[in-house]
Amino acid sequence: MRKNIVAGNWKMNTTLQEGIQLANDVNEALKGVDAKCDVVICVPFTHLASVNAVIDPEKLGLGAENCADHLKGAYTGEVSAPMVASTGAKYVILGHSERRQYYGETSETLKEKVKLALAEGLTPIFCIGEVLEERENGTYNDVVKAQIEEALFDLSADDFKKIVLAYEPVWAIGTGKTATDEQAQDMHAHIRSTIAGKYGKEVADEISILYGGSCKPGNAKGLFAQPDIDGGLIGGAALDAESFMGIVTAF
Ligand code: PEP
Repeated sequence: MRKNIVAGNWKMNTTLQEGIQLANDVNEALKGVDAKCDVVICVPFTHLASVNAVIDPEKLGLGAENCADHLKGAYTGEVSAPMVASTGAKYVILGHSERRQYYGETSETLKEKVKLALAEGLTPIFCIGEVLEERENGTYNDVVKAQIEEALFDLSADDFKKIVLAYEPVWAIGTGKTATDEQAQDMHAHIRSTIAGKYGKEVADEISILYGGSCKPGNAKGLFAQPDIDGGLIGGAALDAESFMGIVTAF
């Protein structure tokens, strides 16, 4: 059975002290809750080791928001997958639309990042999603299919099964505009059938596919009730422990 997951993406928010406080708040809140999903927070590189020291790994997973496309060496300012893993983190967000859009990440670089992350035992949370123009001109299914094929389809079935996918329509990220339950379900079903076409139904049924894009306590229940939606990748609402917990408890 595939897992339900709610993962926070803090992006470039919080100082180290604020981040430790927020992680503590989420960790404390989880003690009183029988969560029906795995809960993860993906935090800035600078926070990873300190946050790892204050959370209960049985209740709260930790992830980075990116990693380098090289293993080590003269890449000033980059942070490698082994460095991320050495902090205690277990997850890494890869291919977020902000990285594709502002930092020129391509399927080629992402392919490398995924392999390096998997080699360190990290679980990639791999983001895919169309921009508004592609939603409006009707090419969105093809765009998302190509993103998956180009970056992930040279993986073995065993490695592919270690990945979590996050469908994040770019027009819904940080805009307050959420995909409707139906739009999200249709895309998630399309993603699962794309995977089934390559790796078979059994593998496709095992992959957790999260929805991301202005997910909030008020709309999470409807989204998570869809048969192919296995949780959420949460941006803005993950920066407040109460609203994040409102999404966690939507399961
Ligand atoms: C995200 O950036 O991954 C995201 C889903 O952001 P938000 O929830 O703020 O739309």
